[in-house]
Amino acid sequence: MVTWLNLFRKFLPARFAGRRFILGDYHFDLTSFEGDVADWLNKFPISAANVEIYLALAELFRRRGEFDKAVSVHEAIAEAEIAGHSSAELSLEIAQDYYAAGVLGHAEEVLRRALVDADEDHSRQAFRLWLAILESEQDWHRAVELVEQYGLPGSGGVRLVNLYCEYVLQVQTTLAPALVQKVLKKARKLAVGARVDLLGAQIATEEQRFTAAIRSYKRLLRNDPRRVHLALSPLLALVQREGQQASLLTFLQRLYPDHPSVRILEAIVELHQSSGTALTPKWQKQLELQVMSGDSYPLTLYWLNQQQTLSASVMAVLSPALQRQSLAESDVHQCTECGFQSEPMRWQCPQCESWETLCSRYESKIVQEQKKVG
Ligand SMILES: [Zn+2]
Repeated sequence: MVTWLNLFRKFLPARFAGRRFILGDYHFDLTSFEGDVADWLNKFPISAANVEIYLALAELFRRRGEFDKAVSVHEAIAEAEIAGHSSAELSLEIAQDYYAAGVLGHAEEVLRRALVDADEDHSRQAFRLWLAILESEQDWHRAVELVEQYGLPGSGGVRLVNLYCEYVLQVQTTLAPALVQKVLKKARKLAVGARVDLLGAQIATEEQRFTAAIRSYKRLLRNDPRRVHLALSPLLALVQREGQQASLLTFLQRLYPDHPSVRILEAIVELHQSSGTALTPKWQKQLELQVMSGDSYPLTLYWLNQQQTLSASVMAVLSPALQRQSLAESDVHQCTECGFQSEPMRWQCPQCESWETLCSRYESKIVQEQKKVG
């Protein structure tokens, strides 16, 4: 039988282009390869001349789901000790074979060794892959340990903060409240992102520590007003409960010039309404500007209701029409790294796997416009 293996023997050294071997005049499509790996390795020992072909073949095995074959080829390359292909590089390949196969324990075992033994570049890759494995397993405790132990090459503190948060969510019901607070404190100390303040506020609310919850929500809004849509409605409920409407009104009126979001003005108007006070001319002017922008149905309705010249029949026609228009353009969350869009809020982008990069499109636009003005 004339197999391409025989031809391969004849025409060494080989060239490799894309998925095809080119041996002299013969072209072989890798995807149709059906040989016995051990046999092949015996006949054609791995050398500098053919190592690229073996690497390509191993990758193909991995993509085809033949993970044991991928591992044995990678292991054979590692044993051959070819210059330019370090054992660290091959360990990472083997770990990826196991990862792709779903044999995560084996993958971690290989990565643990690579992380310690490899040069800086490979050890960084090993770290990333290991962390991705732990994230996919939702093993937040060990993910936190890994990051604490080996640092955060190139990914910043936001990732660690989010690992802490995921961990807290996972153990919240089983861990003592004091220990949960300890983890949250560690996360807060990193002083990045908005999530830890939101989570802190939610937990404080559950534990009926309402003042602490209000403080946490306010810190979140000061640090990252783009998260206003996540914080405002629970915050409004809390201040009503605690009778702190006046102080929240002052807070929001100070926040608004830096981040003139329609959501904040809606809350300002709501707080005025509930206390029965009229808007000052300055806030009346802001109200009119927002009505002209057409971004808020509640504010438009509020403004229309102020107009004594409009009859009830005009209002009856206008109001549902405006509501439909405002609902037609609902806000979405968009990743600032890769553009992925999602209706519900997600803390990790499913497309590029960055943490805390999904933001309200509307609130992000305001931040950008403010930057231009400033
Ligand atoms: Zn993304």
